[in-house]
Amino acid sequence: TKPAGQYFHRDHQLWTPLTPSDLEAINRCDKPLPENFNFAADVLDQWAQKEKSGNRPANPALWWVNGKGGEVKWSFQELGSLSRKAANVLTKPCGLQRGDRVAVILPRIPEWWLLNIACMRTGLIFMPGTTQLTAKDILYRLQASKAKCMVASEEVAPAVESIVSECPSLNNKLLVSPRSRDGWLSFQELFQSASDEHSCVETGSQEPMAIYFTSGTTGSPKMAQHSQSSLGIGYALCGRYWLDLTSSDIMWNMSDTGWIKAAIGSVFSTWLQGSCVFVHQMPKFNMDTFLDVLTNYPITTLCSAPTVFRMLVQKDLRRYKFKKLRHCLTGGEPLNPEVLEQWKAQTGLELYEGYGQTEVGIICANQKGQEIKPGSMGKGVLPYDVQIVDEDGNALPPGEEGEIAIRMKSTRPFCFFSEYVDNPEKTAATMRGNFYVTGDRGVMDSDGYFWFVGRADDVIISSGYRIGPFEVESALIEHPAVVESAVVSSPDSTRGEVVKAFVVLSAPFKSSNLEKLTLELQDHVKKSTAPYKYPRKVEFVEELPKTITGKIKRNLLRDQEWGRA
Ligand code: ATP
Ligand code: MG
Repeated sequence: TKPAGQYFHRDHQLWTPLTPSDLEAINRCDKPLPENFNFAADVLDQWAQKEKSGNRPANPALWWVNGKGGEVKWSFQELGSLSRKAANVLTKPCGLQRGDRVAVILPRIPEWWLLNIACMRTGLIFMPGTTQLTAKDILYRLQASKAKCMVASEEVAPAVESIVSECPSLNNKLLVSPRSRDGWLSFQELFQSASDEHSCVETGSQEPMAIYFTSGTTGSPKMAQHSQSSLGIGYALCGRYWLDLTSSDIMWNMSDTGWIKAAIGSVFSTWLQGSCVFVHQMPKFNMDTFLDVLTNYPITTLCSAPTVFRMLVQKDLRRYKFKKLRHCLTGGEPLNPEVLEQWKAQTGLELYEGYGQTEVGIICANQKGQEIKPGSMGKGVLPYDVQIVDEDGNALPPGEEGEIAIRMKSTRPFCFFSEYVDNPEKTAATMRGNFYVTGDRGVMDSDGYFWFVGRADDVIISSGYRIGPFEVESALIEHPAVVESAVVSSPDSTRGEVVKAFVVLSAPFKSSNLEKLTLELQDHVKKSTAPYKYPRKVEFVEELPKTITGKIKRNLLRDQEWGRA
């Protein structure tokens, strides 16, 4: 048997696979990080073994549907051999070598998962992006990352072709499409003839595995680099306790392939638990398709952005019977307590919110079994020691507002991003004393629950009071006229800045007397929060500006108000 805390090399006679409880123990800091780790070999191939020996329920590893009759169901064993073929495509015809960066811009198609695993097997650095990126966005990413290879689908190919001459580091373009195209290698063709024999490289656990671009809510997206273990081991507790997954579950995480939320919910947390990753190709969110899928497929676990839940609760959900749904999650943006209450009233299900960042993954969450306080993001998630800190990096007592931060023990927690690539200043700027600071403001209560106030830049200071937009938005949304709102600062000659709300009205209120409605909404906020927070200015709009990931871009509205647009 293995001596406590010691690991052996894969070719050593005493080597044994890491068990799920080993991976949890590493997250609890009860076991050290192994020197080597590779998610494909140490997690996926282990589930394939369990499947073979009958120790995993008959549940696909990947279940993909496109809504037009197309369907793929792969076991872990199939995922293994198909991803080995994909690995051979990347190393042989594409000539890529360990450490090279590969930009992958694909819609939600099965090849995205194969290429993700193929990169792990070959030690390539996977850099996903959403198909909604423009030529300019792609140029920025290719130049900033010096990617060697670009993998794209047909819809993205013209944008890539328009900028490729400005990317000298790019050696190859690989097209994932049933049709071929001039100047591109064909993935499908090369895949057909590739061998499924491939031996996974022995990657170091701290070796770079992926670069995820931040959402760019407040500026250019930053390249957060993650290691084999930060993503590959770091989500073991999250999958088990926040997502509440087992190997019999079917998880539908709706995020686009380009964001870390896809990695968390549709790759790492899910497969660490041996669960099934369910994917619907749905290019754009469609309410009817969404409700159909939940009604017709045995999905047990759902994760979607708050903006989706805000739309959903406008419908009468009582008319639908979801087939197997039992656990629902959200994150990426604050969830208004009103939405949580309505979702619960209409479906009988709780909504478990998590709070995280591309850089460090899930920081706080409402874990299964833990009492939910509506409006709170839950408690800090292991191995993180989450605190609220002041401007000098001192931890503040419960009840005091400050910046949400993670204590850096003597070493950097292994589940942290390693750096913003080529940006040591920005990487260094995340540190304050002994803490990593998130750039978000919040409060911790005496039970250890965290309450989001706003991004530090979004906080409004009016007549000396600090006002967090989220609380005001949550008060507004309680009113039946409000579907959603964005609260920002606006210039005012006497007060310096005042609170302004941009409001999207619900259908029945669109033809109301807007002056009267403004007064009514202001009155409502005065009653439901401290009166000084009420929006002195209200503007009704058809929609709010959002990032591709569906986050409200308050900074854009604020700049507009201050004439900086
Ligand atoms: P950029 O850093 O480029 O401006 P971004 O911060 O939006 O973009 P992400 O890493 O995708 O990029 O998002 C992390 C941020 O999203 C958090 O710092 C926080 O502001 C917000 N966020 C995530 N989850 C929650 C949540 N549950 N409640 C409130 N805010 C959240
Ligand atoms: Mg950020």
